Amino acid sequence: MMIGKEMAIAPHQESVQDVSTQTAALVEIFSAIQGEGLNVGTRQLFVRFGGCDLRCRFCDSANTWHTQAICKIEATPGQRDFEVHPNPVEIAQLIAWVKRQAVVNLHDSLSLTGGEPLLHADFLADFLNQLRKTIQIPIYLETGGHRPDDLRKLLPYLDMVGMDLKLPSVSGETHWEAHEAFLKICDQSGVTVFCKLITSRDTTDADLDQATALVARVNPNIPLFFQPVTPLTDKGQPAPPTPQQVLDWQAKCKQQLTSVRVIPQTHKMIGQL
Ligand code: SF4
Repeated sequence: MMIGKEMAIAPHQESVQDVSTQTAALVEIFSAIQGEGLNVGTRQLFVRFGGCDLRCRFCDSANTWHTQAICKIEATPGQRDFEVHPNPVEIAQLIAWVKRQAVVNLHDSLSLTGGEPLLHADFLADFLNQLRKTIQIPIYLETGGHRPDDLRKLLPYLDMVGMDLKLPSVSGETHWEAHEAFLKICDQSGVTVFCKLITSRDTTDADLDQATALVARVNPNIPLFFQPVTPLTDKGQPAPPTPQQVLDWQAKCKQQLTSVRVIPQTHKMIGQL
């Protein structure tokens, strides 16, 4: 893991011929404080990709499910002075936007998020290959953790992976086999990986047992984060777990796993975009 390494522009520039002409649909780029998982509290440059192949009941990013005609690109880190640009975006353009945000000593890492960023795995492999020739910054992938074949394409460029374990009783999505294959690949590759469980009042013991056993089978030292759903105003959203549920679940998981933490979405607590 290279978290903490400062973001700096390398002295050389890549040649134009090196840059792939692949494209991808973005949602937005912005600089913010990470509010979830192992990187909570760190400053990240978020590159959010459009498109998702899942439909989690608790999703707070439904605007990312389908690719859009435009994307919003922050001009100054943390100022929310968004420019609007057309989709799709070429790699050279994305690198230029990332470089523009490259303020020394500001970002701890670059977060690839979505939607599901692994839907753009081929684009990302080329983008990250080009990016590391010009900017030194740790790369963090936020993913639903259900596309192991696409993950393999990116592993050489990743420093950290935060993967969701989708609990069917909460998300409505069931991907146990893919999750286990995905986590095994991460663990065997040596990339820093952690798992995130979004929990609600409806979380079942059977789902929790299955998720805990899955992580324990791969490596009981992989950190597990419980993330209680954030209460949203829309009808039909799952209710957050009770304090007693959270205490009981953590105690249960700690019987098999070394590191089990409970962290709600802190960026929403501070009113951050
Ligand atoms: S994987 Fe993420 S973006 Fe996709 S539906 Fe689930 S929560 Fe929403």
